[in-house]
Amino acid sequence: MHHRMIFPLLFVALLSLALALPAAAQEAPPAEPPPYTFGGSITFTYLPPADMTITNAEIFIQEVEGGIESIAGTATISEGQATYILDLNKNSLRAFSEVEYWFEITPAEQAPFATPHQRFFYEDNRFTWQTLEGGPFRVHWYEGDVSVGQNVLNAAQAGLERARLLLGPIPDPQITNIYVYASGQELQSALRLGGLTWVAGHADPDLALVMVSLPTGPDQKRETERQIPHELMHIFMYQITGDGYAYIPTWFKEGVASANELRPNADYYVILNNAVGKDSLIPLINLCQSFPKDANVYLAYAEADSFVRYLHQQYGANGLSAMMTSYAGGAGCEVGSQPAVGSTLTQLERSWQREVLGQEVILAALESLLPWLILLAVVLVAPVILTVANLRSRKHQKEKASLAA
Ligand SMILES: [Zn+2]
Repeated sequence: MHHRMIFPLLFVALLSLALALPAAAQEAPPAEPPPYTFGGSITFTYLPPADMTITNAEIFIQEVEGGIESIAGTATISEGQATYILDLNKNSLRAFSEVEYWFEITPAEQAPFATPHQRFFYEDNRFTWQTLEGGPFRVHWYEGDVSVGQNVLNAAQAGLERARLLLGPIPDPQITNIYVYASGQELQSALRLGGLTWVAGHADPDLALVMVSLPTGPDQKRETERQIPHELMHIFMYQITGDGYAYIPTWFKEGVASANELRPNADYYVILNNAVGKDSLIPLINLCQSFPKDANVYLAYAEADSFVRYLHQQYGANGLSAMMTSYAGGAGCEVGSQPAVGSTLTQLERSWQREVLGQEVILAALESLLPWLILLAVVLVAPVILTVANLRSRKHQKEKASLAA
C-alpha cells in the first residue's frame, strides 16, 4: 500500500519540477504595473542583475495610441537601482490609455542596452470598478449596484439602434469601454479639463472610450439615456470615418450626437426659441471649427440638434451619411453638403429657419425692423402730407383768385 503511493507522488513531483524549470529559464513575465496614484505620480524602477553596476539610466514613456509625444527623463540611481518618478501634474497621461515604457541602461561592465518595452493600463485607480459586459459594450462603474451597469448597457444598445436610424447601416462597433463616474467633480478631475464644468460626458473616439458622470438620484435614468447614446455616437462616427473625423464640422458632429439622445432635450427647445425671439441665433458657419467657450455653448448645441434633426427629416439617413462622408473627405463646411444633398450650408440653414423656426423668425425680423419701419413711414409719408397740404393751399389760392376775379 505504501509503496504503491510513493511512485505516483514522485512522478507528480518530477513532472511539476519539469514544468517549472523552462518557465524559470525564460524571460521574466510581464512585470507588475509601476505603482502610481492617478493624476499624481508614477514610480518607475529598474533593478539590475546582482553582478551589474548601473552608471546611467534614461527612461522613455509614451502612450501606445499615439496621444502625447514620448516623455524622456534621467533616472536617479540609488543603492544600485534606477528610479524615475513621473509627475503627472506636469506630464498628464490620458486616462484609461495603454502606456509603454523602457529604460536605456548604461552599466559599468558592458555596452549600454535597452530593457524590454513594458506596457500597463493607466486606469483611474482611485476607485474600485465593477464591470458588466454586453455585445460590444463594457460598462465600468463604482457607485451603486448592478442596475447602474445594466441601465447604461441598455442605453448603449438603444443608442446603437438609434444611430442606425440616423446614419443608416453602420457596422458593429469595436469593443467600447464606458466608465461611469458618480459625480461631475470626479469626472472633471479625471479629465483635468479645468473650467469646463458643464461637461457631463466625454468621448475619446480613438480609444473607443466613453467617460460620463451619472450621479445617483431622480435624474440618473434620464441622464443615462441622454449621455450614453450621445457619447457613443461620437465613437461610431469616428469608427466610420477614421482620420476624416477631424474634418467633420463641429455642428455636424455635435448635432448628430445630440439627435442620437434617446429623448429630445426640452432645454434646447426653450433656448432656441429664446434666441429666435431675440434674433441672436449663431450663424451655423461660425460653428464649423468649434463651439463657443461661454454660455452660448448651450445655444450652439440647441441649434446643431434642431438643424440635424431637420436634415434627417428632409434627406433621411442616406442624406446625413452622405454629408458625413463628404465632410470627412475634406470638403469645406459651406459646400460639403452640396454633393450629398444638393444645397450649400447657407441654403440649408435658410430652409431650416423658415420651416422649423418659421413663425418666430418672421416675428423676430419684424420686431428688429420696427424702428426702421417707423423711420421709413416718416420718410415716405411726410412728403405725401406736405404735398397734400401744398395742393390744398394752392386750391385755396385758386379759389381765392377766382373769387377775386
Ligand atoms: Zn458631443
